[in-house]
Amino acid sequence: MLYPIVKYGAAGLSTPARPVETMTPEIDRLIDDMFATMYAAPGIGLAAPQIGVPLRLAVIDLSVGKRDAELITLVNPEIVERDGLQVEDEGCLSVPGFTAAVARPGRVVVRALDRQGQPFTIEGTDLLARALQHEIDHLEGTLFIDRLRGVKRDLIVRKIRKLEKAGRW
Ligand SMILES: [Zn+2]
Repeated sequence: MLYPIVKYGAAGLSTPARPVETMTPEIDRLIDDMFATMYAAPGIGLAAPQIGVPLRLAVIDLSVGKRDAELITLVNPEIVERDGLQVEDEGCLSVPGFTAAVARPGRVVVRALDRQGQPFTIEGTDLLARALQHEIDHLEGTLFIDRLRGVKRDLIVRKIRKLEKAGRW
């Protein structure tokens, strides 16, 4: 099943999500639906709050469906190490049509559960580090535009408000 992706302005995008307590067939199904929704968008990452589900759950696939080995499912992820710095353009399926340069650590180590409920650790640099941080931010109720300096953020927010008023958001 494909879910509609909620956009900036939806309350669920600015609220911290709650941990997944047990892996159930429903959660497993939800993970499949999240991958399908992400590919249909298309995107390289999707967090559950973006489909209106307030759980600490995210999927990433930098290959956008081309290589199964690159599917990453993160249940209750936590960043346990971060270092370095990268500044790259970033976008978000919940903020369609906008990108901006965002400064983030260049490397992170994340601890999470996989879809079987087993703990694992993943290290990412460059784009993977960025995707991991972007998705985990969603679980905290933070969007990439919240990481921009005031003026840059205000400009995007103002444009979104105009689109909203015109009924195009
Ligand atoms: Zn996003």
